[in-house]
Amino acid sequence: MVNKSSLSRRHFIGIVPAAAVALNSCKAGDHENSIPSPDYSIPESGFHGREKNKRDWRGDNRSGRVIFLSHCTLNQNARIVHEGDFPAMFEPLIDYLKGKQVGLIQMPCIELYVLGLGRFDVREGMESPAGMKRLTRIIDDQIFTMREYLFQGFEIVGIIGKQGSPSCGVTRTWLDGIQQDGEGVWIRELKKRLVAENLDIPVHGVADFKQDETIKWLEERLKKPYDKSSFSASK
Ligand code: SF4
Repeated sequence: MVNKSSLSRRHFIGIVPAAAVALNSCKAGDHENSIPSPDYSIPESGFHGREKNKRDWRGDNRSGRVIFLSHCTLNQNARIVHEGDFPAMFEPLIDYLKGKQVGLIQMPCIELYVLGLGRFDVREGMESPAGMKRLTRIIDDQIFTMREYLFQGFEIVGIIGKQGSPSCGVTRTWLDGIQQDGEGVWIRELKKRLVAENLDIPVHGVADFKQDETIKWLEERLKKPYDKSSFSASK
């Protein structure tokens, strides 16, 4: 039986500092140059962001509402070792969103994408040039998706990060070996892009064992039913 409290992120990093430093010093992207970059530009023949491709979405049962979630709220298997708090997902939060008919958009686990499942302490790797390069690529993808939903008249209820994470923390993060106030790397960079792109989407952090606080926040956001007639399209 694993004693969870004895295997916290703090403890884990404490017992293997040399290994953590060695992994991080590998620079997350030693093989970066051999990985082909996906092309996120809008292809000439594409259907994104064009007036003539705005559609009328009122003719079916879709709710018109979506939410972007940190990956591990739906898949705990992506968590750093010893930090999976639930077997699979944040059940109270996900059950609530299901009941409210909000479409769930699972953002990639940025730590997995940059450093892999067997990662140690992550700050150094995430903040390295190679880490930031990968992170920027994923941000491009998420911003592209957000812009398309908004362009077509959907409501993005919010972006939900994971409190306490060195990457996804919104007001609480892991830094210098302790949890403290601050933003994770992913959320910090994503928010910068939201400002740069003039996207007014609220960002909220969910804590593993305080999901009720996030549900309260969502209740406010979802008070007003989404008016499908505000789907901006006419075709
Ligand atoms: S908090 Fe973010 S980076 Fe950490 S496991 Fe969850 S999705 Fe991945």
